[in-house]
Amino acid sequence: MRVRPTVLLFDIDGTLIHGDGAGRRAMEAAFAEIVGDASSLRELSFAGMTDPAIVREGLQRAGRHRDDGDDTISAVLMRYLELLHDAIASAAEYRLHAGVIELLDSNAVRSRCAIGLGTGNVERGAMLKLAAVGIADRFAFGGYGSDAEDRVELVAIGAERGARRLGLRRADCRVVVIGDTPRDIAAAHANGAVCLAVATSVFSVRQLREAGAEHVVADLTDPSVAAMLADA
Ligand SMILES: [Mg+2]
Repeated sequence: MRVRPTVLLFDIDGTLIHGDGAGRRAMEAAFAEIVGDASSLRELSFAGMTDPAIVREGLQRAGRHRDDGDDTISAVLMRYLELLHDAIASAAEYRLHAGVIELLDSNAVRSRCAIGLGTGNVERGAMLKLAAVGIADRFAFGGYGSDAEDRVELVAIGAERGARRLGLRRADCRVVVIGDTPRDIAAAHANGAVCLAVATSVFSVRQLREAGAEHVVADLTDPSVAAMLADA
């Protein structure tokens, strides 16, 4: 069987990790400190959003987005990173989702396969979150919220980096985005990638199917996952 070289881009929140609201608490606290009030973030679903897009949306909803918006976004994200470690440490139920370790250990992700991240987290936040559950060293590259505010762009960047690790051009690789939201699916498709969607957070199997994911599972313990990633 000929296995096509594959770049895997894993989302973090809701896909690899159940964060128990730690990221949101750190973001709201940072936003409140820098902007004065975080109530504009309370009704906002962060699902599938990049960190800079969350802050920008919060500022807009608060009527606070002006010419200095990008400086304010940077300031909020700097403070967020300072607060994130303690927010994770104090979360009651911060953990990996079922099947993640087994999948990362499996043959499915070994042969001609580059394992990376496609996440809206800024890179340092991504590493803090992954280190807290002991898997920061499992991902050799990624596309991050610190690379691009737009998820489509950061997935493109991650795909390029993955192809380079395989010594190939992007066009010669199959790219699979593994995510938990319609935004992951849309970003995959905008990049000519396929999406393995996992219903481990707020979106159901049915909703993810309706959003167009090529493959949908309840969680990563599903035996069809390895075959799908290995392109078998
Ligand atoms: Mg997610």
